[in-house]
Amino acid sequence: MSGETVAVAIKRLSDAFARVGIDNARLDARILVGRALGVSAGETALHADRVLDDGSAQRLTSWADRRLAREPIGRILGEREFWGLTFELLPDTLEPRPDSEALVAAVLEANKNRAPRILDLGTGTGCLLIALLKEIPEARGLGIDQAPGAVACAARNAARAGVEARAEFIRSDWFEHVARTFDVVVSNPPYLSTADMATLAPEVSFDPAAALIAGEDGCDAYRAILSRLRPFVRGGTVIALEIGANQCEAVSSIASSHRFKIAAIKRDLAGHSRCLLLMP
Ligand code: GLN
Repeated sequence: MSGETVAVAIKRLSDAFARVGIDNARLDARILVGRALGVSAGETALHADRVLDDGSAQRLTSWADRRLAREPIGRILGEREFWGLTFELLPDTLEPRPDSEALVAAVLEANKNRAPRILDLGTGTGCLLIALLKEIPEARGLGIDQAPGAVACAARNAARAGVEARAEFIRSDWFEHVARTFDVVVSNPPYLSTADMATLAPEVSFDPAAALIAGEDGCDAYRAILSRLRPFVRGGTVIALEIGANQCEAVSSIASSHRFKIAAIKRDLAGHSRCLLLMP
């Protein structure tokens, strides 16, 4: 509302968000009020007594309405942080999750190659590949996605991170247009079952279904990848797959059935098994 101070707007929105059951209601309110003013959430405290002008108040009202309808902050702002970098989102890209940073960390630990070729299957915003290219200055990589919008979005994100000269993004149904071997293969494929969908937070419904759902048991994408991966790896290839809660056994057994060895299982910061590291 115009005429309100920053402090009053934050209080009003955080109460409204909390009433509908949004976690971190106050943080979300600070992020949106900050964005309406052009400052970070942390800086809102410095502007507590500032009065919102009409333009800021109007923007804030429309964002707050979207948040009350459970749209995630990252979708409202059109961008999300991952591995300290900012990624643009589109309707056909998954919003990067901090859990997936476990894959980046696992690959950095396991990879001994100074200039690896990296393949990212289902690249979305490109977050996994771009974070790895940023960390390994001589690495080069290919990100594939079946959604054309994702390919363009990932390319813009690579440019924003300054790694575009070493990154290529193409539209491909898994390995359809992939034609060489790689030293590192990463993927955060869709891994939810149709039944899982009913149990998720309302925010997840804003992610594209194709990036989330993988058949009746959630394992269709692992089967598609692991059954076709062999020609694209060599002896020392590091393979890192993100897995969902309770999928460790199922995915390990699909991997074993295609003669991949389980090298390690890495946990995310919440303590869940999140990344399966495989060897050819
Ligand atoms: N690789 C992207 C990410 O980790 C997209 C993954 C997906 O769409 N399932 O965010």
